[in-house]
Amino acid sequence: MSDTSKLEDVAPGTLVVGAGRRKEWTGPVVNPPIWRASTHLYESTAALAEGPRRNEDGHFFYGRRGAPTQWALSDALTQLEPGAAGTVLYPSGVAAIAGVLLTVLRPGDVVLISDNAYDPTRTMGRGLLSDFGIEPRFFDPLDISGYEALFCERTRAVLLEAPGSLSMEVCDLPELARIARARGAISVLDNTWAGPLGFHALEKGIDITLMALTKHVGGHSDLMMGSASAGAEFYTRLRQRAQQLGTVVSPDDAALALRGLRTLHLRLKQETESALKIAQWLSQRGEVAQVLCPMLPGSPGHGLWQRDFTGGCGLFSFVFKGGDAAARNRFVDALELFGIGFSWGGYESLALPIDPATYRSCMAWPPEPSTDESRFGVRLAIGLEDADDLIADIEQALAAWNAG
Ligand SMILES: *Cc1c(COP(=O)(O)O)cnc(C)c1O
Repeated sequence: MSDTSKLEDVAPGTLVVGAGRRKEWTGPVVNPPIWRASTHLYESTAALAEGPRRNEDGHFFYGRRGAPTQWALSDALTQLEPGAAGTVLYPSGVAAIAGVLLTVLRPGDVVLISDNAYDPTRTMGRGLLSDFGIEPRFFDPLDISGYEALFCERTRAVLLEAPGSLSMEVCDLPELARIARARGAISVLDNTWAGPLGFHALEKGIDITLMALTKHVGGHSDLMMGSASAGAEFYTRLRQRAQQLGTVVSPDDAALALRGLRTLHLRLKQETESALKIAQWLSQRGEVAQVLCPMLPGSPGHGLWQRDFTGGCGLFSFVFKGGDAAARNRFVDALELFGIGFSWGGYESLALPIDPATYRSCMAWPPEPSTDESRFGVRLAIGLEDADDLIADIEQALAAWNAG
């Protein structure tokens, strides 16, 4: 294969196989070698004097600016995101969120944060950002006029996430981004769920899109990493701030992320198909009050997902009809093919008891329409096991739920 840095107009499967594999990074082999480096050596003092001035991508300078292994990954992610001029890598998804927010916010600013955002994002608002004189305000992303009313002169940025963490609501991202822009605020999207194959954030009006590569891109539950992609103006600012913060990723982890990336399209396709089958099955069960899976027709947010997204993944939630926390935990403990744990996006299935009410200030839980006694939920991350085996496992665990 020749240089793939100019892959255009190809389907996602082709894109993830070729992205970032520039000849200058890979040499004569398929993947870029792992360049372990702090010091980069110069030919002469004259070349050294040139080094710091070449503060642009793709030039050796010093380890903190990376080497071809990390550059190949950044390149690949930029190619996957239509409209992106570049991608900055961070040592975790949370570091990406912090790196982005510390780029765009200043003391005295207000940042609007989606009420159903990933909980550490909320914590960052009330901790790190508040400590630096930035005021977080939480909003219900399904209430567009309420959101619009929250803007003030000090509103510098909005942080969006869809589907919502744990509770999976899909909001009208293009409209929320449009309003932010009209009010002079920068829109940031945590696009970990859909990723660039499932939602073209920048094309839909988002200014900066970030994700936890820990999840689907890594894909094998063995690395922590994050990324942020943007057009030229914001990319330059993100890169400068990351340099100032000193955040770097190891070349070994970058190589693992690149390995994961090559099968991303295939894994997402399979996970989505299995998740849909399992969500459909669960929606027919008497024990289940509500399935919260945007890909499932009839599920909350399905219409907007269908309108705006180009793909899904294996992550969704459901709420039991009645029962209590003990019954819900009996169900999770009885599962044999699902691990119990945080994170998701690996090849293996996981289950997590969820109580979103603990993590929100203005949104309802459970989502309407539902009754008060139906509020004990479980989030499932569907992996690459056979869907029928997973269904059989869920069925036997539902027997444990019923047995109380
Ligand atoms: C996991 C996750 C993160 C954080 O990623 P880490 O790599 O674990 O720090 C951020 N956003 C969402 C939506 C996530 O699921």
